[in-house]
Parts: sequence; structure tokens; C-alpha cells
Amino acid sequence: MAVLDRPTRLPPPGGLVLTDGPIAWIADNQRKGISATPAVTVHATAAFSLEHWDRDREDSARELLGAATAWLGSKVTEFQVHGWRFSKPLRVEEHPCCVLSASPPLVLAGDAFAGPRVEGAVLSGWAAADALKQYRIF
Ligand SMILES: Cc1cc2nc3c(=O)[nH]c(=O)nc-3n(C[C@H](O)[C@H](O)[C@H](O)COP(=O)(O)OP(=O)(O)OC[C@H]3O[C@@H](n4cnc5c(N)ncnc54)[C@H](O)[C@@H]3O)c2cc1C
Repeated sequence: MAVLDRPTRLPPPGGLVLTDGPIAWIADNQRKGISATPAVTVHATAAFSLEHWDRDREDSARELLGAATAWLGSKVTEFQVHGWRFSKPLRVEEHPCCVLSASPPLVLAGDAFAGPRVEGAVLSGWAAADALKQYRIF
């Protein structure tokens, strides 16, 4: 996350998915309505994070912000960097949840079952609830 001295150059609606380089996507937090001042969140690609996991985080942040320069179009006044281990499933399962046991009922759910986003996690949770209802424990 970086605070800028001016609004970004990101086109509306302020979210940009990149297909090349170390950045997966950039979000304009001011345009999104969650920051009063110009600020962005820059997500590295999974490949970049894996390759640089043991490196100094600040160096990774500088490289990412450098790669984002053209989109930011303004000076970074401060930044924070965080490494999320296990942030994305490596593989998304075919079924929206996994029933491990009927008695006692045990069902696995989460974004690894229905897509690596909040929407996927919710859909998987609903599928797990439906599966549990079949065992009439509610
Ligand atoms: C930086 C970042 C930004 C993101 N932004 C977006 C976004 O803008 N939009 C979007 O749709 N998705 C976004 N995602 C993805 C989204 O956050 C996930 O897809 C979603 O949170 C997955 O939900 P989940 O319930 O499957 O897993 P999680 O939200 O990871 O929940 C798993 C829970 O299990 C707990 N846990 C783990 N191990 C144990 C254990 N052994 N015992 C007990 N508890 C345990 C964890 O603490 C956690 O609370 C983002 C992810 C990251 C990392």
C-alpha cells in the first residue's frame, strides 16, 4: 500500500489487472472510496511473490512501485508492504465443497473450492451448508 502526493493516472473505475511483469493488479483506494488521500494497493503476481519470498520485503515493495510508476504518475510519500503466505490456492477443486465424513458431519469449504475470491468462498460456504442440511443436523 502506498500513499501518493497526487491522484493516480489509473483510468476509471480505478482497478487495473496487468498481464505482464511483477504486478498482478493495482487498486486506486481513493477512487474506491476507502481513502481520503491518494493511495493505491499494488498486488504482486504469485510468481513474483514465490520467487522473492525470502528477500527483504522493502526491496520487493520498491521494485513493485517502480514497475507501477507509469500508472501512479505521482510521487510515493510513504508505503507499507506485507507478504501473505497461502494467499491464493494453487489449485481450485472441481466441486464447491468436500464432504469428508457423514457421521459426524465434516465438510471442507473455502476459496480453494469455488474460486480464489470472496465470491468463491461464499459460494463454497453455501454449498457446504446445503451438504450439511442433507444430514439434517440443523
Ligand atoms: C491481500 C489480499 C487481498 C484480497 N483482495 C480481494 C478482493 O479485493 N476481492 C476478493 O474477492 N478477494 C480478495 N482476496 C481473496 C479473498 O481474501 C479470499 O478468497 C477469501 O478470504 C477466502 O476466504 P476463505 O474463507 O476460503 O479463507 P480465509 O479468508 O483465508 O479464512 C481462513 C480462516 O481460517 C483460519 N485458519 C487457518 N488455519 C487455521 C487453523 N489451523 N485453525 C484454525 N483456524 C485456522 C485463518 O485464520 C482464517 O481466518 C484477497 C486476498 C488477499 C490475500
